[in-house]
Parts: sequence; C-alpha cells; structure tokens
Amino acid sequence: MNEYHILNLGAGVQSTALYLLSREPDAKFRFDLAVFADTGEEPTAVYRHLDYLRALGAPDIWVRAAGKLGDDLVNGRNSTGQRFASIPAFTKGPDGKVGIVRRQCTKEYKIDVCERAIRRELLGLKPRQRIPKGVILHQYFGISTDEAARAERAKKRFEGVKHTVPHWPLIEMGWSRKDCLAYLKDKLPHEVPKSSCVFCPYRTNQAWLTLKQTDSDGWKRAVEVDRALRDKGSVVTRGFRQELFVHRSCVPLDVIDFTKLWPNTIDPLTTGECQGMCGL
Ligand code: SF4
Repeated sequence: MNEYHILNLGAGVQSTALYLLSREPDAKFRFDLAVFADTGEEPTAVYRHLDYLRALGAPDIWVRAAGKLGDDLVNGRNSTGQRFASIPAFTKGPDGKVGIVRRQCTKEYKIDVCERAIRRELLGLKPRQRIPKGVILHQYFGISTDEAARAERAKKRFEGVKHTVPHWPLIEMGWSRKDCLAYLKDKLPHEVPKSSCVFCPYRTNQAWLTLKQTDSDGWKRAVEVDRALRDKGSVVTRGFRQELFVHRSCVPLDVIDFTKLWPNTIDPLTTGECQGMCGL
C-alpha cells in the first residue's frame, strides 16, 4: 500500500497553520508535500509569504500553475485564443438587476492544478490513466470550525472519489480561524496575507480599500483586469451581452470611492469563496 499525505496549501491563515503544525515535534499529522496552485495573480505579500514557508525546507512546497488567469481572460488559453475560464464577475441586466457569472477559475486554476500535480508528478500517471490499486491519497484542507458551509461543499467534492481520503484537521481539533491566528502569532515574523487573485470579485468594500491603500501593484492589476473585462478585444467578452465588472456596483473599479461606501458591510454577493483554497 502506497499512502501519500498532501496539503492543499492556499497560503492563507488556516492552511499556513496546518503547514506549521505538521512541523511540530508532536504533530498529529505529517505531509509528504504541500501544493500551492498559483493563478499568477496573488498579491506580492502572498508570494513573499510562500518564499518564507519554502525556505523552512520541509515539507516540500510545489508551486504549480495553469497559466496567468488575468492574461488568459484577455488572450484565451489555447492556441486559437478562444478558451478562457470565467471569474465570478458581476453583470447588470437591462432591468438593473445585478447577477454574477458562474466561475470556472477555481476549478481550472486551483483544483485541477493540484490534481494534475498529484497525478502526473507525484504518481507519474499519464492523462486519464487510472490510479493504481493500493495507492491512497490523503488530502488535507485548511478549513476551520467557523467555515462549516465551506467544509460541507468541500466534502461533496470527494463523495464517491476512490483512492482519495480528504482530511479537515482543524475541524477535528475544534480550531477556528481565531485559534489559527493565535497559534501563528509567535510562529511568523509577518502577518499571513490574504490569499486570492487581486481582482477577485469575492471581496468586501473594506478589502478593496485595503488593496488600494496598501498594494499599488495589486490595485493597478485589479483595475487593468477590470477594464479588460469590458474590452471588446478580450476573449472574455465573447458570449456576454452585458458588460462585466469586478465590483458588484457594476461601476469601473478605478472610479469607485471606497471611503464613501459602507466598508465593513459584507455584501451577500461578495461572500462566495474560492473552494480551490484561495484562502478566501
Ligand atoms: S481567487 Fe477569485 S478569481 Fe481567483 S481563482 Fe479564486 S474565485 Fe477565481
């Protein structure tokens, strides 16, 4: 029997806590490796945080990518430039009703990337080749007790999946996000940054304001991709009659005055999450 223990590392608070917990002398779980699926669009602080974790040496962290998500929305993913994976952008219908686009980014840039790394690189399988008998993949997820709905959705992903045993150690330990933060306090020389694409529409007004005030490169990129969502030359605009926006007000990002919005109000349309462990 070949058993592998793999951490889905989103590089946010919870999965960072799991990573560091596994290095404790009395750890209840250990990882053979951690996989970070990189959309190429994280804030600089996340890449710095990843470098810090990787420098610890073990367990090994694989950073793998399917491309650069924002560029692929503009140019497409295949040689004909037709293919793209939608992000959960907002649209406004003629009746003024705001809707949200069904996203494919989580699956294609997060979940599939991790699966491919495990199948092809760890197990050496060819595309569509079955996982051999006797191989068990233990996949670990940093979901805490305050994310019950997220845990349920994640569990569904593995229903009927052979060879893979999902684990949610933080839930088993009864740890909330607050517990993770308390644990991390003395473990790192920096705060764990929020991990998600800089233009991800799953963001509160407060989070947009913080991005604008603290990460000029990230903000510039978010504005650039927001504009590209309405550029007639972008692949992503094909097939959509209505214009796309990253902010739920359906106003271009760079003209919004976030200091005049309700910064701490959590909008139900922005509380979705990237189940590919974007750390949201
Ligand atoms: S962070 Fe947002 S935009 Fe990026 S992959 Fe996840 S859901 Fe998509």
